[in-house]
Amino acid sequence: MSTTVPTEAPATELRNHIGGAWRAASASCDWLDDVDPATGAVVARVPLSGADDVDAAVQAARAALPGWRATSPLARARAVMRLREVLLAHQEELAELVTRDMGKTLADAFAEVGRGIESVEAAIAMPHLLKGENLEGVAGGVDVELVRQPVGVDAAITPFNYPAMIPLWFLPFAIAAGNTFILKPSEQDPRPGQRIVELAAGIDEIPAGVVNLVHGAHDAVNGLLDHPGIDAISFVGSARTARHVMTRGTASGKRVQALGGAKNSMVVMPDADPGLTAGGVMGSAFGAAGQRCLAGSVAVLVGTEAEQDRSRDLLVEAARKLRVGAGLDPETDVCPLVSSGARERVEAEIDAALADGAELVLDGRRGGGAAGAELGPTILDGLADGSRALREELFGPVLALKRVATLDEAIEWTNAGRYGNSAILFTQSGAAARQFRYGIEAGMVGVNIGVAAPVAWFPFSGWKDSIDGDLHANGKDAVDFYTRKKVVTSRWA
Ligand code: NAD
Repeated sequence: MSTTVPTEAPATELRNHIGGAWRAASASCDWLDDVDPATGAVVARVPLSGADDVDAAVQAARAALPGWRATSPLARARAVMRLREVLLAHQEELAELVTRDMGKTLADAFAEVGRGIESVEAAIAMPHLLKGENLEGVAGGVDVELVRQPVGVDAAITPFNYPAMIPLWFLPFAIAAGNTFILKPSEQDPRPGQRIVELAAGIDEIPAGVVNLVHGAHDAVNGLLDHPGIDAISFVGSARTARHVMTRGTASGKRVQALGGAKNSMVVMPDADPGLTAGGVMGSAFGAAGQRCLAGSVAVLVGTEAEQDRSRDLLVEAARKLRVGAGLDPETDVCPLVSSGARERVEAEIDAALADGAELVLDGRRGGGAAGAELGPTILDGLADGSRALREELFGPVLALKRVATLDEAIEWTNAGRYGNSAILFTQSGAAARQFRYGIEAGMVGVNIGVAAPVAWFPFSGWKDSIDGDLHANGKDAVDFYTRKKVVTSRWA
């Protein structure tokens, strides 16, 4: 990939995409600045659409539904194949938009778009995945068959930290299964999602109204949750918003999947390979400045006090070497946070931990850097059990250390937390790995891997407070979420 940086265009006022046309949001709406966290420049202005804008998108999606549902699964899969080609051709451009809007490094952003394209590839198998079941002769002349039909009009409400990949967890599966779709991207960095919708809209095989976009924040979300013309909602964001989306969406009869926040342990055994451990923990805790739902934010150091100290020193030495800076700088390891406000919030969490008696073994505070959003790798030891830095998601480059004597204790301590997105083990022992895999209460488990993100043919499968609902994103779960099962019993004498 190239690292050439074109000059930034002047900030534009974003528009909604409804029924195949770009439309201004209702005149009375408020506007938000989309700020490049590396420079502080305003790169776009985001309309905070309201219920009227949502209603227009729902009407367009409903109007397109009968024709799209009647399009053969093969033709829909071919349309999604075209989407893959177009996204691949624009992968660098999309990656740069991700970096300029959200802040992560260009290499990380390029990989993010690649993971989104993987979801498109998985959705291309939809004609296979939609095939039903049948049972002949359940009684004299009576046969039973199960068919899968689209749910209807689906909306996806997505977070800031993967502004390209997470819209692509939903869009390709929803439309390949015959649904029509509305995206509400994060208001903090909506341009990658908007560009994806624009690219999809340019594909002849995807008719107007099949893919729509409404910009906005709380009002747009609540408009989608309450609208009787929406059948299913996919949400990814913080645990608190996930609970709100689940409660309000199901109250109006919708199918809802709501993926929430996380607090992921990385358990370091005394026998762990130092190179694999240092590299894995650094990428997990500090990559994307800790703003990943799979970020390992607690290192659970197992062993005697001397072994725990050795693991701590390994991690502190590795973290000291990480370079903090702009995402477009190829030398950067740790990018800025999404905004100066996010950096202030995370620094307040560090202050609270210190006031509570924690030891600051690595201090990443540096006054915010160029645009106020930078925070370097920070490591806290000696935290009071139950402190927020050990149990709650801080969503910044802060690694909390927890010391335990045995693997049993590490598993028990981790399982006592409210989240269950991911858990990681560093060890050279197969027996320890088996015990961890069996006993840990988390949906995505890594062994000697810092970020255990499943490929898109598997579900993205958090447990406990990391999800509200049963069905996850991607894999066969996406087929179940985006289809309704119909069982037909027939007698032909
Ligand atoms: P967020 O909950 O603040 O926002 C997510 C979406 O919800 C946005 O589109 C936003 O406009 C909307 N929203 C926010 N507050 C709302 C409210 N009160 N009412 C209605 N709508 C509201 O999340 P975020 O800060 O954008 O993203 C970071 C969070 O997402 C982290 O907690 C992270 O762990 C989580 N996340 C989870 C996964 C997963 O797979 N479980 C993946 C990525 C991110």
